[in-house]
Amino acid sequence: MADPFLTRQADEQRGSERATYLQCEAFLEFEWLDHAFGTRHSGWLSAHPAVTLRQIHSDRVHTANGLADRQCEGDALVTDQIGQRIGVRTADCVPLLIADPVTRAVAAVHAGWRGTAASISEKAVSRMAQEFGSNPAHLHVAIGPAIRVCCYEVGPEVVAELAPFFPEWTTDPHNALPAHRNVDLVEANRRTLTRSGVPASRIYDGGYCTMCDAELFHSFRRDPHDPGRMVSSIVRNR
Ligand SMILES: [Zn+2]
Repeated sequence: MADPFLTRQADEQRGSERATYLQCEAFLEFEWLDHAFGTRHSGWLSAHPAVTLRQIHSDRVHTANGLADRQCEGDALVTDQIGQRIGVRTADCVPLLIADPVTRAVAAVHAGWRGTAASISEKAVSRMAQEFGSNPAHLHVAIGPAIRVCCYEVGPEVVAELAPFFPEWTTDPHNALPAHRNVDLVEANRRTLTRSGVPASRIYDGGYCTMCDAELFHSFRRDPHDPGRMVSSIVRNR
């Protein structure tokens, strides 16, 4: 079941394009932050000054303080600096934005299957705890548009890597895993987060599938030649 997300149109208009982006309703309660999940219609919004990483499908987390855009390789950013917008670029992979209303630390995470298998969302939570003293029980997580279980069929390599997140796949230990299977990357991240101590009730998912909705989203799997990526970002404003 999807949690409420809102579709927004940017007030400002550039040329003929009006930017469209998504916001998680629960995050709008936090007057100290701003956030946006990009769509294929937020071209100029992507130019918004955000620090991003050269993404490599790793489990590397960086503190954004003092970083220039694309200065480092990795797949998650954390910061508690006011005015430091951080972002991730995705087209099918899972974008996660994390907010800690107690310390006002924030994180942006890019979780494809490799990052998910390496528990990158848990590593971002741990880094928030180490750097800023965030208690995982206080965190709120918004999950943006990603390829969903309806469309994400994967082969044996990915099935094997993600099997630890889905113990229900093998109830009989003598049964081999099926070679192909539809995988729910968002659910794997949700389980990773709850294992890390984030309350399930504070994980919000709009339920958007990038592959199903060609009008709104880029999808690498649907259009392998489309180089478009969507930027999702978060910033502590005060
Ligand atoms: Zn789908």
